[in-house]
Amino acid sequence: MATREKVDVAIVGAGASGSVYAAVLAKAGKKVVVLETGPEWQLSDLISSDFWGRRIKTAGAPFLLEGKNAFGYSYQSGWGVGGAALHYFANLPRLLPNDFKMKSEHGRGLDWPIAYRDLAPYYDKVARDIGVSGDAKAEEKWRPAGKPYPMPPMKTFRHGEVWLKGCESVGIKLVPAAVGMNSTDYKGRPACIYDGWCHIGCPTGALSNPLVTYLAEARKARAEVRARSTVTRVLTNQQGNRVVGVEYYDAARQRHVQPASVVVLAAWSAQNPRILLNSASGRHPKGLANASGLVGKYMMCHFASGTWALFDEDMQNHMGTTGAQFMSYDRYGKTSHKGAFGSTFIVTGSALKTSDLGGFANARVDLFGPELHAFMQRAARGLTRLNAFGEELPNIENRVELATDKDELGLPLGRIIHSYDQDAAGVWNANFEEGLSIAKAAGAKEMWSGRGAMPTIHLMGGTIMGTKAGNSVVNSYGQSHELPNLYIAGPGIFATAGASNPTYTIFALSLRGAEQLAAKWGAAAA
Ligand SMILES: Cc1cc2nc3c(=O)[nH]c(=O)nc-3n(C[C@H](O)[C@H](O)[C@H](O)COP(=O)(O)OP(=O)(O)OC[C@H]3O[C@@H](n4cnc5c(N)ncnc54)[C@H](O)[C@@H]3O)c2cc1C
Ligand code: SF4
Repeated sequence: MATREKVDVAIVGAGASGSVYAAVLAKAGKKVVVLETGPEWQLSDLISSDFWGRRIKTAGAPFLLEGKNAFGYSYQSGWGVGGAALHYFANLPRLLPNDFKMKSEHGRGLDWPIAYRDLAPYYDKVARDIGVSGDAKAEEKWRPAGKPYPMPPMKTFRHGEVWLKGCESVGIKLVPAAVGMNSTDYKGRPACIYDGWCHIGCPTGALSNPLVTYLAEARKARAEVRARSTVTRVLTNQQGNRVVGVEYYDAARQRHVQPASVVVLAAWSAQNPRILLNSASGRHPKGLANASGLVGKYMMCHFASGTWALFDEDMQNHMGTTGAQFMSYDRYGKTSHKGAFGSTFIVTGSALKTSDLGGFANARVDLFGPELHAFMQRAARGLTRLNAFGEELPNIENRVELATDKDELGLPLGRIIHSYDQDAAGVWNANFEEGLSIAKAAGAKEMWSGRGAMPTIHLMGGTIMGTKAGNSVVNSYGQSHELPNLYIAGPGIFATAGASNPTYTIFALSLRGAEQLAAKWGAAAA
């Protein structure tokens, strides 16, 4: 066992959330080490091939997946330096004001301890930091005014534009999607070339993955990123009132202790509770930061209702980005659909490849052999999709807990137990029905709902924020209520899920938390 030199901050996880903390704190002059279980990826590892791209997807110890609607992994965590945002689609919608006060306004779900206005300046700041393209004025139909995006909207193609008329027919206005991609050259990174390979990582740097944004800034400010370092426990002092560092294992399975004045857990919604529960001690018998018993509780996700449509004309569907061309919050009101509760966020116009995530091969999973071949021939030019993301409400029964089985390092595996309720099923179905009406009005020749098992996208919750230890794990900055020098970052701290893709909010919350920590360093650090 080796004890490393003490640092100011040990960050667990080099993904979207961890990279923001690393940049802010290293630039504030703190000695920062980021411990990352996966490999050290470079842009040159991002090869535009569906088969090659699988190498950069989630790996490591699996979770045991249980419940009526067990979680799937495809849109979940990442693995290695950059995390899931190394190969995300970079759709960057915000949460809206109605997400923060659901309990007060509807008597459902939970309230956040902050309002939209507390986060709004950070959304604007993140946009400038990482480069967001979009039309803020057009979005202000649904949200308070803020700063314009630093780049104009992305170029559009027929497979996105074709939905405009259909959506309008049911009262849905589509506006240019806000995406973390370059419509022009930005801060030394090139403009997008619209070849649609974002889902396995953009090799040019046109997409705002952490390697080319916050992690690059962190490294410039001398933060150390230590790949192949798997954290198993957060360690405390004898009194149990301060964290003192973390235990981790290197690639050779050697145990190390990394002492630190502050620990930031940024290992993703399901891994953070797993580490906290495994850090139980005499002083913290239920796990660290878990006096409330809420660590691992209130796991939430998004589900999507995909409507496929085939047109006779050339949809240019190989062009564009895997993110969206257009978006709409016109069904974002919590009671937009009769008889079901929860927001919907709509996107159209993702580039389609023949295989892999959301590609042609997955559009008609009922077809095989010659029928599939004939379909693929028609789809190669004429296929497009509208996607409606729905919101799952926080439910304490949806949870992460430790299993008795262990991984190769002796860390108990995590078990994720998840089931949807009637509201989620209601929103999912309503969005399929509306999708078909839209496709018909758009003039599609054939249209169908992409039904299968109800999907589980974007895992959130497990270490939720709130006003006090009795109702939550962390405060609105991500700081543990129980241990002032322990911070938790990422979608795990969301109190509700909204229907917007989460990463813009992850960046904004992390920036808010990291800036507060830097400003109040003396009060937090040990
Ligand atoms: C295919 C795909 C498309 C997506 N598209 C979008 C999109 O369009 N818009 C959007 O908003 N979001 C999207 N997402 C989701 C988005 O990428 C995630 O919400 C976001 O990256 C989560 O950030 P994070 O920092 O919490 O976790 P991660 O990015 O998962 O980072 C956590 C890191 O911690 C590391 N780690 C885990 N355990 C340990 C440990 N014990 N010790 C050390 N390190 C550890 C992991 O290897 C990982 O690198 C997409 C995700 C996928 C997979
Ligand atoms: S479409 Fe644009 S953002 Fe996506 S991989 Fe290609 S260049 Fe990168």
